[in-house]
Amino acid sequence: MDGQDEDLTGVDLGDGTLPVYRWRQAGREKLATRRQLREMGLRPGGQEPVARIECRGGRRFAWLYRLDLARPIRPMTLAKEAALDAAMAARQTCPRCARRYFHCIPLRSLGSCLECHDGTPADPTSYTAPPTPALRAA
Ligand SMILES: [Zn+2]
Repeated sequence: MDGQDEDLTGVDLGDGTLPVYRWRQAGREKLATRRQLREMGLRPGGQEPVARIECRGGRRFAWLYRLDLARPIRPMTLAKEAALDAAMAARQTCPRCARRYFHCIPLRSLGSCLECHDGTPADPTSYTAPPTPALRAA
């Protein structure tokens, strides 16, 4: 009993029915951890893990999922996109001239865009014009 490096590949340790793999051996089985799935733009998609992968001593382990059952990560919903856009708008819109820039403006230091601050003309391609009240009145 001196901590011999046993090969646990495929051995049921008695804590479940899932096979246990060593790091690096799971690839052959078309399995991936949640993190690996994420890197591939995938998610488990409701499937139960089919195996466990662990490193020496089992101190670290991760669940393995089948690649063929994985689903693509859901694209952002419109609501989420709108919320994100609103958050961005707050950082890109000048409170003084109401132009919305395509970049964040120095709200914290200047409190407005450069043009409102010191007259530096803004590049017309760098913002979208504010809604014109005159148009609505007409
Ligand atoms: Zn401005």
